[in-house]
Amino acid sequence: MPDCLFCKIIAGDIPASLLYEDERLVVLADINPQAPTHVLIIPRRHIATLNDLGPGDDALVGEMTRRAAAVVREHGLDSRGYRTVFNCNADAGQTVFHIHMHVLAGRRLAWPPG
Ligand code: 5GP
Ligand code: ZN
Repeated sequence: MPDCLFCKIIAGDIPASLLYEDERLVVLADINPQAPTHVLIIPRRHIATLNDLGPGDDALVGEMTRRAAAVVREHGLDSRGYRTVFNCNADAGQTVFHIHMHVLAGRRLAWPPG
């Protein structure tokens, strides 16, 4: 998608250091971290919002979730705990319309969220 920030990063048009990549996913450190560990699990394929997922994407979302757990485990924070978040559309504050799972760890996280 030409005007998509994450598509540009994935294509290498905007430089970024990837923490992990495979055929379907990339992992980036969030540029504006909200916790000591704040990474984004991003599918290579452009999907604008959670509302655009189809039944064929179930495995992809499963891989994103398992990658989140793996990243937190690599940071040694899995037993302390962490939060995964997908923001969808305006009320949730989605700003980049290419789905991504936020993974937040390394501090006590408030509930309910703001
Ligand atoms: P959203 O608000 O759509 O759920 O999350 C978008 C996230 O992308 C935000 O947490 C924001 O800090 C992050 N972000 C925006 N631009 C960039 C960028 O150029 N590089 C990286 N690594 N993260 C970005
Ligand atoms: Zn995109």
